[in-house]
Amino acid sequence: MKSHTHYIWINTPLRQDFLNITPQVEGELEGSDIKEGLCLVNAMHITSSVFINDDESGLHKDFSVWLEKLAPFGKDKYQHNLTGEDNADAHLKRTIMGREVVVAVTQGKLDLGPWEQIFYGEFDGQRKKRVLVKIIGE
Ligand code: ZN
Repeated sequence: MKSHTHYIWINTPLRQDFLNITPQVEGELEGSDIKEGLCLVNAMHITSSVFINDDESGLHKDFSVWLEKLAPFGKDKYQHNLTGEDNADAHLKRTIMGREVVVAVTQGKLDLGPWEQIFYGEFDGQRKKRVLVKIIGE
């Protein structure tokens, strides 16, 4: 069995943003020489997510509005922020949107469904963060 490990560094200018990282993941797969297997992609920080959905800007605005209703930003709203942090909302948003995705690798390609794309969701950005890409197979 072969394996390939890569860390994608991300630093978003905005506190909250969604980035399509499918091209970077595909680049890692091409460099791995793995034709059949599994590709794990996970956020390595507890205030950011990796998820799969549609690359449609209206939907991304809908996600933002929905998340803000569920976990509004606000320093005085949360127990966690009593520690002096201001990012409790980002921890909650990360949990809702998920930590990782696993995509099958078939004939050397990510075996994504129609319209499926891999996204990085940032909820407390403006600093360097990492996404792990781990590909295993033959
Ligand atoms: Zn925190």
